[in-house]
Amino acid sequence: MTGPAPSLDADVVIVGCGPVGVMAGLRCVQRGLTVIAIDKSPDIFPLPRAIAMDDEIQRVFQNAGLLEQLRDHSTEILGGEFVDADHKRVVGIEFEPGTLGAMSLPPIVAFDQPGVEGFLRRAAADSGVEFRFGPEAVGITEWPDRVSVDLMGPRPSITGRWVIAADGASSTIRTHLGISFIDQGFDQPWLVVDATQLEPGLGLTRIAQQICDPDRVVTVVPGHADRRRWEFHLHDDEPRELAEDPEFVARLLARWGTPEQLRVDRIAWYRFHAVVAERFSVGHVFLAGDAAHQTPPFNGQGMCAGIRDAENLSWKLAEVAHGRADERLLDTYGIERRPHAVGQVAHAADAGRLMDAIAAGVDTSVEAGYGGGRPFPHLEAGLVEGSGPGIGSPLPQPVIDGVMLDEMLGKGWSVVTTTPPTHDHLGAAAALGATTIEIDPSTMPLLLDTDTAVLVRPDRYVAGIARPAGVLPDLIDRLARKGGYPGLSPG
Ligand SMILES: Cc1cc2nc3c(=O)[nH]c(=O)nc-3n(C[C@H](O)[C@H](O)[C@H](O)COP(=O)(O)OP(=O)(O)OC[C@H]3O[C@@H](n4cnc5c(N)ncnc54)[C@H](O)[C@@H]3O)c2cc1C
Repeated sequence: MTGPAPSLDADVVIVGCGPVGVMAGLRCVQRGLTVIAIDKSPDIFPLPRAIAMDDEIQRVFQNAGLLEQLRDHSTEILGGEFVDADHKRVVGIEFEPGTLGAMSLPPIVAFDQPGVEGFLRRAAADSGVEFRFGPEAVGITEWPDRVSVDLMGPRPSITGRWVIAADGASSTIRTHLGISFIDQGFDQPWLVVDATQLEPGLGLTRIAQQICDPDRVVTVVPGHADRRRWEFHLHDDEPRELAEDPEFVARLLARWGTPEQLRVDRIAWYRFHAVVAERFSVGHVFLAGDAAHQTPPFNGQGMCAGIRDAENLSWKLAEVAHGRADERLLDTYGIERRPHAVGQVAHAADAGRLMDAIAAGVDTSVEAGYGGGRPFPHLEAGLVEGSGPGIGSPLPQPVIDGVMLDEMLGKGWSVVTTTPPTHDHLGAAAALGATTIEIDPSTMPLLLDTDTAVLVRPDRYVAGIARPAGVLPDLIDRLARKGGYPGLSPG
């Protein structure tokens, strides 16, 4: 674009105030950036969508200062299982109530998406995100050092140094930028029913169930408090109009309860599909959330993946805005997040195929899907150094002397070491703005032994491990070269 560039309205302009856009905005302001977030609608999306959240994402809420509020809006899910038509378990995992995982949080909780989005928006507004509801984004105008979101309506545009397009599955910004979705090969019609259990003692479990019945594959998810979710795979001869008919829904639910026992709150017809954008950024514009990837919901990972985007991107934007790193750091966003999202979507599609295969009586399919060979993705490229257990994955979060580890780490980079830090170590860590904390190796036995230093990114991912701890300055130097930290390395 030629001509004078418009003045900056904010460091970051966010298009879309769903959970991903709002979390991205909150984490950006908490890291010292100014943010304007726009949405064409003031309303929180009312239909059934996300219900399950893993511990990594609960930890993002914790680091955003929202763990107590999340606890008030969520209930543990006590496992997951694939069962056959007789409800006999084929494969699964179960947790005792009160189980905490490696992050000292429940492995998975059920929540009510509109409720969580409500407190998230309030927290973001209180922290300084400027919300503007009403304007619809229709395009993007790029300038050498900034970008404008073109709007429909009285004000023609809003300009930021960067734009986060979190405008959902039909993202106008993604379309405008000409970024295609790459289909990962899954497409099925499903009916989603949210209900409230009015009568106790219906025998509904707190384990998420994939019921692989040849007559109809069904997912049942215990929701927050007395809520319950059913997802029914629709047959080819069951069009949307039929599926959304309340009498049809009552017939589907009859196996679990009557309308007097189960009050239907919300129903929605969806096509579950699996797509990932061919790239996650163009210039100063970054796609996040459903704008960048969509997954079948069987593993409860769509919004979780979007919040991973928000956390990954917000600290990098802050490092660049505050002059600690240059824009090369932002290239690592797509390098890291895209393969991770592809891996997660593949995982969920596997789960869908596994349900169909078990229902069809193909019992060898377990090894190929859930409980089988495909590991949960981790960061294999980008701002990580080396390979091996733990590298590119979130750092475990033990509780030490009653305090969760993250409460002891700084907001930025950290070094977790098992030996007293040397002068060189402290100097290298300080150059990165990292806080150093010394802990006993027994608190993280799978990752730490004596003479180990773990370099942890602001998003709590392990960037690399120095063994012996004395090689930490070299590790920081190698990462600085990769990540655009010119003050640390000639790069
Ligand atoms: C049945 C179902 C079950 C699910 N279960 C889970 C689960 O258990 N766990 C999980 O993690 N995820 C789950 N998901 C996925 C999850 O709901 C989504 O991934 C998540 O809501 C996406 O959030 P988002 O912020 O990216 O997009 P959205 O929530 O769609 O928000 C996009 C926002 O952008 C706004 N917008 C769009 N275009 C424009 C424009 N041009 N200008 C201005 N504003 C615009 C919209 O108004 C909207 O507010 C499920 C989804 C479904 C359908």
